[in-house]
Amino acid sequence: MRLRNIFSIKNLIKLICSLPVVLVVLYFVPVLGIIMVIARYFLYSERHFYRMPIAMIIVGLVALLPRGLELAITNFNLNLSIPYLDTILAHNLYPHFMDYGKFILIAGIIILIVSYLLKSFISKLSNNIRTMVSQYTSTKQAEDMEIRKENDLKMREKEITSAQQTPHAVKCPHCGKTNSIIGTVGKCKSCRSAIEWHAKK
Ligand SMILES: [Zn+2]
Repeated sequence: MRLRNIFSIKNLIKLICSLPVVLVVLYFVPVLGIIMVIARYFLYSERHFYRMPIAMIIVGLVALLPRGLELAITNFNLNLSIPYLDTILAHNLYPHFMDYGKFILIAGIIILIVSYLLKSFISKLSNNIRTMVSQYTSTKQAEDMEIRKENDLKMREKEITSAQQTPHAVKCPHCGKTNSIIGTVGKCKSCRSAIEWHAKK
């Protein structure tokens, strides 16, 4: 890959909107983070459809885990001591982190639902369009077939009429004289016997 390609604008945007960067931006500037999440849907193919919201949900759950554990221990009177749990909860940055966890968890779930609905809507729409196109094509084919049949019939009729009107040379089987008759049947001019013209196969 050439250096120019690596530093193309699209790759730069991809780098800016990469998963870890978006997660960090969501912490400091939530609105910008959400815009970046939406931008990712235009940047990446369907394979990445659920990657971002699932990552957001996982990060949110991880951020809320210490508080959740604390609640569980106090509510159920569990005799559990988890190393560093008190230190984490007592840290003055943890409330911010917990807010971030809540926000990212809810946003992740909403984005997951919306992207799922959008995806099924888009696939349904494209299916409908495909069905309509195939229906149109089959109707068109049937019409074409009908027209072709009609044309064939007209051609046959024309051939028959022209065969009836063109003069044919017929050798009389009785006297051997060559007669010119119009149509397929006629009479020999010499012996008056009936003669018939057959198309050569
Ligand atoms: Zn004859």
